[in-house]
Amino acid sequence: MSYGATPVDSAWIAANPLPVHGGGTTKNSRGRVLAIGGSGRVPGAIRLTGEAALRVGAGKLQMATIASAATMLGLFVPEAAAIALPEDDDREIGEGAGPIVEQAMARCDTVVLGPGIARPEVAARLLGQVISADPGEMILVVDAMPIGALRDLESQAAALSGRLILTPHYGEMAVLAGCEEDAVADNPERFACDAAARFGAIVVLKGSSTVIAGPDGAMLHYGGGGTGLATGGSGDVLAGAIAGLVARGASPRVAAGWGVWLHGQSGRRVATMSGPIGFLARELPVEFPRLLPQ
Ligand code: AMP
Ligand code: MG
Repeated sequence: MSYGATPVDSAWIAANPLPVHGGGTTKNSRGRVLAIGGSGRVPGAIRLTGEAALRVGAGKLQMATIASAATMLGLFVPEAAAIALPEDDDREIGEGAGPIVEQAMARCDTVVLGPGIARPEVAARLLGQVISADPGEMILVVDAMPIGALRDLESQAAALSGRLILTPHYGEMAVLAGCEEDAVADNPERFACDAAARFGAIVVLKGSSTVIAGPDGAMLHYGGGGTGLATGGSGDVLAGAIAGLVARGASPRVAAGWGVWLHGQSGRRVATMSGPIGFLARELPVEFPRLLPQ
């Protein structure tokens, strides 16, 4: 697709191995992920994200969401810790969440923020709280609504340079860049590279073909997933996969490439079994372990 971008194919996968966890591995050594998000309108998004992180091999998972959904979420994902956050009248994560999020962040290596958050002001507040609680080492994956909020938090986010991964679709990139979605669609590579340089981030700009750009201008692309991936929750799964791989010790660039590849290859496998469209995003992570190196 793109001049100058390296394809994420079997050669790239072979040349960019994931960290190996030998026989003495513990769940802590395979990384601890904290997934923050969800709302009354989309209470299950964070489950997709969290399960994807576990399915790529992350050792431990915490899921922080609105109090009225947290217990249910914990029962749906009994492998994870469920953290109840205060919620507002719209059943979104409420103002008092900061100290609880900060405590949970002290027990994790990677934070993934965003899936299921429905209001921009909630997204902006949580992003601010996560950035101010940053202990200085964690990697932050920002997905969905909080991506646009980065626009107004650019100076605070500067400390995260080199530790930030953004996973926008074209609409979310348009909010971040302050332009129309069509402009992003016309030149996704330029928008991905500009955002990567601006935030010192790995930017995964998602579409039927996905561009992965780094602050150094190096680009990857992947276009092999199939149209069935265009379904609700698909991006929530991708964000969790990338977070899980980073928690395992992969660099942000390698985690992004592998995450996009695993997501796409899983889509192809599920499509082969159940048809090219109509499969569910929740069916994708089940395929990850079979695609991971032994
Ligand atoms: P989201 O919009 O956040 O749910 O993310 C959608 C996911 O599906 C991204 O990983 C996209 O790259 C992928 N996707 C969307 N449309 C297509 C398509 N037509 N072909 C292949 N992948 C797609
Ligand atoms: Mg999304």
